[in-house]
Amino acid sequence: MKKSIELLNAKSFIIYDKKIKKIIFETNKIYPQHFFPHNIIDYAEMVKKMVKNEKEKLPIMSISSKDFPYCDFDCKDCLAKSSRDWASKNIPCIVPNIQLYKKILYNVSEYSKMLGCSSVRFEICGEGNPDMFPNRDEIIQFAKEKCNMGVVYISTGSKLDYKTKIALSKYVSYIRISFPGIDNLGYDYYSNQKGKKKFKYNDAIELLKELVLLRKKYNRENNLIIGVRTCIRDSNEGKYINFAKQLGKIGVDSLQIVKVLTPEKNKIKDNIINKNLKKELLIITKKYKQYGLKHVQLPIKLDSVYEDRKLKNEIKPSKCYSSIFSPILYGTNLITCTHWDKISDVKNFHYGELKGNEDEISKLMNCSRSLRIRSKIPSGCDDCCSINDNLMFEIIKLKLSLCNDLNDIEFKLK
Ligand code: SF4
Ligand code: SF4
Repeated sequence: MKKSIELLNAKSFIIYDKKIKKIIFETNKIYPQHFFPHNIIDYAEMVKKMVKNEKEKLPIMSISSKDFPYCDFDCKDCLAKSSRDWASKNIPCIVPNIQLYKKILYNVSEYSKMLGCSSVRFEICGEGNPDMFPNRDEIIQFAKEKCNMGVVYISTGSKLDYKTKIALSKYVSYIRISFPGIDNLGYDYYSNQKGKKKFKYNDAIELLKELVLLRKKYNRENNLIIGVRTCIRDSNEGKYINFAKQLGKIGVDSLQIVKVLTPEKNKIKDNIINKNLKKELLIITKKYKQYGLKHVQLPIKLDSVYEDRKLKNEIKPSKCYSSIFSPILYGTNLITCTHWDKISDVKNFHYGELKGNEDEISKLMNCSRSLRIRSKIPSGCDDCCSINDNLMFEIIKLKLSLCNDLNDIEFKLK
């Protein structure tokens, strides 16, 4: 666990020149959860390959799978509604057949292994409730045992069956349970579930307790992180500290509190974080260890409740690095990202459909169509879901381009 938690707790990333014994770049704008169980150093090594002009040697470092774009919740600030509705009508095979799915995962892992990444990060999340995918336990076990993937599972957990909970406890590196609200009323309001049988805040808390017990049962306390994610909302003021304490007491390791990505009622101007709320959140960053948590992550800037991901022309990176290192598997379709309108633009954002054939990943990632798509992004993007990572990779690339000898360069985490 120490090693895993250390990765999440890394505060800064450093580029060091051994020859002149100098730090040539240091930043605290790192987001370890975007990469875990990898870390930013693994990606910086890939950027180094780019600078060396070894484009054809870049593996897929991470694949984020959207394999069940249907949900039992109807969250007030769901980002996925429009893209999943569009996908269900317009792209083939959005819920992959299990045998084909396994072949695709195997092919991705073999492709990346050949190019130097022996364990691809496999993120199962979003666009719906991943608990509802049939045979979820089988996919998790296959990804870990046959593909040596580092599996990350992100869900509300509302529809987890027992065999999937066991698979999560045995094979996954990180489970993150999302909380739409942090008490019964808030959870009910923001999850916006229809019908009589609802998954409630207390059910989510009981689920965390069960996962902590299963982790102990399968002796995974050193290599499975259990985390929680929730949003910053004015209506939660005064409740965050108790929530953090409750999680710590249960044995949850990590709490992530993030800005919302769609402003409530489209009122961006009104979304300034008020003083008391800010104070409360800062107390958590100081005292989380006393509460029993091992890691806490808040936005670097505690200003607005809403995270604006506008990609202004002046700061556009030269490439969309995330579409190269971390493409999305949407059903059986390999695509650049799922940002709002992007999923619906097949011509400019879909690499293509996978059929499970040997060598198809290599062909698809390097064919003229994919190269054309990559040459058009990010110039054609106004908002970017990977804005922070893409800008960071661009800066790393620029710093490395100015180095006399890349063999003198080391990357470090502090
Ligand atoms: S649980 Fe996720 S996918 Fe489902 S409605 Fe809520 S935000 Fe959307
Ligand atoms: S919005 Fe554009 S630049 Fe951002 S991840 Fe998607 S394709 Fe890449």
